[in-house]
Amino acid sequence: MEKENITKNSIRKLRKMTTRTVILNGDYTFLNVVDWKRAICLMIKQKAEVLKFSDRIIRSGEGKVITRVPLVMRLIKIIRMIYKNRVPFTKKNVFVRDAYKCGYCGDTKNLTIDHIMPASRGGKNNFDNCITACKPCNNKKDRRTPSEAKMYLSHQPYAPTISEFIRLKMKQLGIDKFLKDIGVY
Ligand SMILES: [Zn+2]
Repeated sequence: MEKENITKNSIRKLRKMTTRTVILNGDYTFLNVVDWKRAICLMIKQKAEVLKFSDRIIRSGEGKVITRVPLVMRLIKIIRMIYKNRVPFTKKNVFVRDAYKCGYCGDTKNLTIDHIMPASRGGKNNFDNCITACKPCNNKKDRRTPSEAKMYLSHQPYAPTISEFIRLKMKQLGIDKFLKDIGVY
């Protein structure tokens, strides 16, 4: 009973969030969220199978029911290529990797990028040397390394692959929970 409620709530949340369709890869891993037109196109071309329909109905101009909009689809083929590639280094992608939390204190406000080895001391501008930090932590650390400042990183920074990044995004959007709830993941 409770599980059913969780499922209903997650579905409602997902619908509210997107009114879109979740696309899973051929191996059932999360791939993307697309709009309903793209989803129906994939269905018509038989490039993806529908795992679950939403209750949203598409009607023709005359009001005739054409189809229900898919809520979750799975691609027939597995797409592999791009997933081992690295995500481009941007400030926003560092925030996503760190779940929009300060890597020192966990705060979620006034976020900046901290160079672990300060840029003024030759620290590089890349995923391995950058971490999300709130302004107070960044100011406190100043031009020191974490050990000099006696500040500790909550996690080791890394350059995420596209597939790791998709998993992170999915978690942040709550889609992973949704897929678990409906027994897909
Ligand atoms: Zn902080």
